[in-house]
Amino acid sequence: MGGAGSIERAFVPGVERLTFPLPTGPRHVHCYLLDGDEGRLLVDTGLGFPADERAWEGLEVDSIVLTHMHPDHVGGAERAAETTWARVHQLGLDYDQCVRVWGSADWPERMAGWFRAHGVPTPVADELIEQGHAVAPFIRFVREPRLLREGDRVDGWEVLWLPGHADGHVALLRDGVLVCGDVLLAGISPAVGLYPESRPDPLADYLSTLERIVELAPDVAYPGHGEPVREPAERARELVEHHCGRLEETRVALADEPRTGYEVSVALFGDELSPPLRRFAVAETLSHLEHLVFRGGAARSSDGSLAYTAA
Ligand SMILES: [Zn+2]
Repeated sequence: MGGAGSIERAFVPGVERLTFPLPTGPRHVHCYLLDGDEGRLLVDTGLGFPADERAWEGLEVDSIVLTHMHPDHVGGAERAAETTWARVHQLGLDYDQCVRVWGSADWPERMAGWFRAHGVPTPVADELIEQGHAVAPFIRFVREPRLLREGDRVDGWEVLWLPGHADGHVALLRDGVLVCGDVLLAGISPAVGLYPESRPDPLADYLSTLERIVELAPDVAYPGHGEPVREPAERARELVEHHCGRLEETRVALADEPRTGYEVSVALFGDELSPPLRRFAVAETLSHLEHLVFRGGAARSSDGSLAYTAA
């Protein structure tokens, strides 16, 4: 699986795009090489297949910025840093989650237990255990990166904390160009899921992030997957609409009897999903259910189980 990445040298002036194939999901991931005030920045590092590592050879990079801890963005970080001698930068919250997910021996079991608690059938929840343990050793993130905060600058690029798709997601902004990771994608709605030990209301975070993009109104956004987003503010408005619609569908799927996140996900997404897609659907459903709870449109069931009722 995997293969050497391809670099589009003259993507736009000051920005090069480096694309790696992925075995699943969107089938590719983009990294970006940016001109800074003094040197060059690499944003994200792919999944880190052995074949991808050749892409770092001969690359002149002074700083590496990781947008978020998902495997297709941080997996190649250690090798990229070793090959280029660049310093890795990551938001503190994102680094903490990166260590928890990719650096703890029992994370897959904890995730599976959490999904079971939300009503996911045992085979669907436990399927992730073997897979999680198989993938984790390949995700070679970098220990003790330089920790970023909202408003920092890295070689002239402003760091924006834009949570929602991931709690510690950052983007870089300069002269109307937003290098946005998975905050905005052109063709698909970025996943906004609730996961164990995450911020309590990721959908509220994401809706604030989208409002912020509407206000910033950058000229273009370069995402981690797919084509550039030519009208970022307009795309952000579309995604707000999408989530408002999904919130309403979620509210309608509730009843007086408690329903688990799994049951509501079947109402929203049907019952035909593969185990990995089911887990994404449950996480996405839970982010909407929790947002409804915070807004007063749903209640967590009072008998102590992890289930929801109409409010
Ligand atoms: Zn991604």
